[in-house]
Amino acid sequence: MPTTTSQPAYKRILLKISGESFLGDATRGIDFERAIAVAGEIKEVHDLGVNVAVMIGGGNLFRGRRGTRIGIDQGSADQMGMLATVINGIALQAALDKVGADSRHVSAIEIKSVAEPFIRRRVIRHMEKGRIIIFSAGIGSPYFTTDTAAAQRALEIGCDIIFKATKVDGVYTSDPVTDKTARKFKSIRYIDVLKKGLKVMDATAISLCSDNAMPILVFALGKGGNLKRAVLGEAIGTRVY
Ligand code: UDP
Repeated sequence: MPTTTSQPAYKRILLKISGESFLGDATRGIDFERAIAVAGEIKEVHDLGVNVAVMIGGGNLFRGRRGTRIGIDQGSADQMGMLATVINGIALQAALDKVGADSRHVSAIEIKSVAEPFIRRRVIRHMEKGRIIIFSAGIGSPYFTTDTAAAQRALEIGCDIIFKATKVDGVYTSDPVTDKTARKFKSIRYIDVLKKGLKVMDATAISLCSDNAMPILVFALGKGGNLKRAVLGEAIGTRVY
């Protein structure tokens, strides 16, 4: 476990942000002011010298589940969900431009006039040159989530940790919004997340992290500079190990 200093505790991080982090007060779509605020937080930690890759979700626009509910087959619905993440990726890059951060958008679905294809060594080189990476389209295949894609890419490009940014400030015994007796875990083992069925990341993502000892820090984005605090090794959120 890292100790707190003014120096970053990590060299390379993968930040998973859900599409919902672009929602602001709306229930669907993109609040660009919100996207700029997120971009500002990302730039702040990048300016500390940390390599940053972001896996962006698409839930603010479309999820595969929404499609299957209205009768679309899962393969097609998930493709729609993945393209939703590409839209968010474009928005995040535009937001990073606004705050003066250099970035590269890398899509797992080939869409060359919009984003680069994923080439592992090229992505690592971009980060070494000081560019923030935006991953979109998950891993490019249906039946997966952007959480699993976050775990897979974090391993592939050698990240020290996955930062899973959520609306709540960590992992609780039950939903703290509806259950006032819910307690927050300071840390929890992968196996206990799975056994207790806690909604941290989906089981595939947790298993992949567990098999490869990739730690996950779950915390709330946008609350008092939490991303920077996490990068500096402060004991915020919940650590899954
Ligand atoms: N998706 C997929 N394969 C992937 C990643 C995502 O098919 O590797 C689809 C899936 O339909 C999912 C949608 O893209 O519902 C949006 O991603 P996600 O729900 O993970 O976004 P978030 O909840 O993080 O905003």
